Amino acid sequence: MKELLEQLPQKAKEKHPENVKFLRRLKKKPPKNLDYIMQDLHREEFERTDCLQCANCCKTTGPLFTDADIVRIAKHLKLKPQKFIDTYLHMDEEHDYVLQQLPCIFLGLDNHCSIYDVRPKACREFPHTDRKKFHQIGHLTLKNVAICPAAFNIVETMKKQVHQKSWSS
Ligand code: SF4
Ligand code: SF4
Repeated sequence: MKELLEQLPQKAKEKHPENVKFLRRLKKKPPKNLDYIMQDLHREEFERTDCLQCANCCKTTGPLFTDADIVRIAKHLKLKPQKFIDTYLHMDEEHDYVLQQLPCIFLGLDNHCSIYDVRPKACREFPHTDRKKFHQIGHLTLKNVAICPAAFNIVETMKKQVHQKSWSS
């Protein structure tokens, strides 16, 4: 996995022009059954993927923390929301609360998340490959394929499937 993660940014860079083209086309003309295609691809890929061997998302890109995340996690840690913000978060240029440092402070040496049951919504949903209207988040997917090996594989498989099923005529 270490080697795979080291190679991933370069592999994503090589695929970038092709992915830009594909995701633009997907946005313009999404297949009618895209949500189902994505759910299947996501499920199949994550059946093969052991996130505990990876944790690259927790190490290299942190989640955004919504107000609901902050209240829930602060309560779990028995902190006031403001104390939680002051201790762990800062506000970025886009006025979103993000982690003060990476890897995420809640990631253990064994790659387990110490706040797993109450983790941010963005962590639960990453890499967003099973979300509805996947064609609307092409910009995010272009970034995520360089971070997440599962997202990289899903996009590679998707390029073959969607071309075959929907754009072959
Ligand atoms: S979601 Fe992707 S980047 Fe995060 S641990 Fe799983 S495979 Fe790795
Ligand atoms: S809160 Fe948990 S799942 Fe989210 S980045 Fe931190 S360690 Fe990973």
